[in-house]
Amino acid sequence: MKIFKFGGASVKDANSVRNLVNIIEQYKSEELIVVVSAMGKMTNAFEWLINSYCYSSDKIKARLNTIVNFHNEILWDLFPDKANPAYVAVNELFYQLQAVLESSPTKNYDQDYDSIIGFGELISTTIVSHYLNENNILNTWMDARNLIKTNSDFRQATVDWSLTEQNIQKQKFDSVLISQGFIGSDSDNRTTSLGREGSDFTAAIFGYCTRAESVTIWKDVAGVLNADPKHFPDATKIDKMSYREAIELSYYGATVIHPKTIKPLENKLIPLYVKSFIHPEKEGTVVQKSTSYDALVPSYIFIENQILVSISPKDFSFIAEDNLSFIFAKLAETKIKVNLIQNSALSFSVCFENAEDKVQKLFSLLKGTFEVRYNDDVTLLTIRHYNEEILSAMTANKTVFLEQKSRNSARFVLR
Ligand code: ASP
Ligand code: MG
Repeated sequence: MKIFKFGGASVKDANSVRNLVNIIEQYKSEELIVVVSAMGKMTNAFEWLINSYCYSSDKIKARLNTIVNFHNEILWDLFPDKANPAYVAVNELFYQLQAVLESSPTKNYDQDYDSIIGFGELISTTIVSHYLNENNILNTWMDARNLIKTNSDFRQATVDWSLTEQNIQKQKFDSVLISQGFIGSDSDNRTTSLGREGSDFTAAIFGYCTRAESVTIWKDVAGVLNADPKHFPDATKIDKMSYREAIELSYYGATVIHPKTIKPLENKLIPLYVKSFIHPEKEGTVVQKSTSYDALVPSYIFIENQILVSISPKDFSFIAEDNLSFIFAKLAETKIKVNLIQNSALSFSVCFENAEDKVQKLFSLLKGTFEVRYNDDVTLLTIRHYNEEILSAMTANKTVFLEQKSRNSARFVLR
């Protein structure tokens, strides 16, 4: 069994779908599960639709139209014959979506979100499946919600591995299986989702449950790069890396592979390939067990728009367990995702995304007991497998507000 995952960029328009089908064509005689995300940036468009469903119903119509038109353009291009069954299948999903939009919201935003967000994936996989039919590639469309079972923690559901494994192992794989990334269902069969960008994780779930020989994530880049080319024009592809290294990179903020993807694959020693759907013939990156290649190429992870906050007790008490647990409780209450911390005797520093509402809330929670100072508009840079030369080059002409080094990683808050 092989598992392929295609993200939004690989199905962003009709030609992308044609390209995807060309890739699948080459593997059609193998046991293959194909996980597909919503088309292009459609998940964002669905988020807008959900907001209007929950908060401002006057905008529902316009936002729904944007979504319908986007998919229709792709349908018209792929299926010039309007009698093609693809039209009936996609319209059926739009009826189901319409029915949700006409019902009243439950008032649980996350549950309402999940009842709508997965239509992006349901529609994209329906289009892909019908286009495979057009090209005589035998395939079975599968509703992932019948396979991937989760708890009811909407928008960040936890997978019920044993039920999911049973469901998947009951499947017959006599043709290419096409299914949706990112969605599942709870014990009441309500739609749940695994967190934004969760389709990589879905591919890993399928890989784990079928003990696949490999999982391949097809992307618009050559593989895993050692830096985001936006920040680093000389970014190069990493040919091989360990599961551990991939987990570290995503922990430090590299966005190329969804963080939850690696663990299930590591447990079953399933290699993960990251390859280009534009150049499918080229070797991408393989993520596997051996760590012997990890130190060969240094990696650079930039997280912009950060704020570095320094918090000191007004009564000059030391920063110790009681102060720290108070501060962490406030960070948790504000739902701030901490990217880096450091403390000294009299102050505690913390770096996180500069989201104004959260920052203001945190400051107001702390201001009675603590002196709070900050530097905003700073960048958090992590360098894996650094050397001194790299560090001086990367910090030259920068103001460094904080630095932290371990054996393999150097981290800087700088501007
Ligand atoms: N379509 C979902 C998202 O954009 C899931 C995914 O692409 O992985 O977040
Ligand atoms: Mg996506």
